Amino acid sequence: MTHPWIGADDNTLPIKALSPPELPEPPLSGAGGVGCDACGRAVDRWTVYEDDTWRVRALHRGMTFPGSAMLESVRHANGIADLTPDETATFGLMCQRVTQALLARPAGGPGYGDGRVGRVHMHFWGDGGEHFHLWLFPRPLGYLDLRGSYLVEWEELLPPASEDELLAGAADLRSRLNP
Ligand SMILES: [Zn+2]
Repeated sequence: MTHPWIGADDNTLPIKALSPPELPEPPLSGAGGVGCDACGRAVDRWTVYEDDTWRVRALHRGMTFPGSAMLESVRHANGIADLTPDETATFGLMCQRVTQALLARPAGGPGYGDGRVGRVHMHFWGDGGEHFHLWLFPRPLGYLDLRGSYLVEWEELLPPASEDELLAGAADLRSRLNP
């Protein structure tokens, strides 16, 4: 397993040319709520929290770090620019709650390394699905190579956790978000 950017400094990585701009851009997935996976999503075993405004789901498709989660609005909103003032106000509270829940995981808890979390990374890219969603990744405590934007690069390279490990991470998060 090599560092994701080994070779970047000595030009031994393959070069990809930047494509020219494409205008108009193609529509995002679920644009306008049509065919949107997040709209009306049923509660299932990966749902860890839901209220009238927000839903938190444990990520499970090939994820490396148990406890990785997605915060999404219950209502179809086109990114953060489309949230109402009330939704925007409670968004910060939800970010804090999920972050605190992941940071509270003790040694021996379900997670990468010894289970403890050093920091919680939040990513809002918004280039895939239109429905408002935020990615949350627990950065394993002590793994300094995983700091910053490298975490999601390594996440693609390291072996995925087992379904049992991901379910345990989901259960841990659910218990802390629904005390
Ligand atoms: Zn939607």
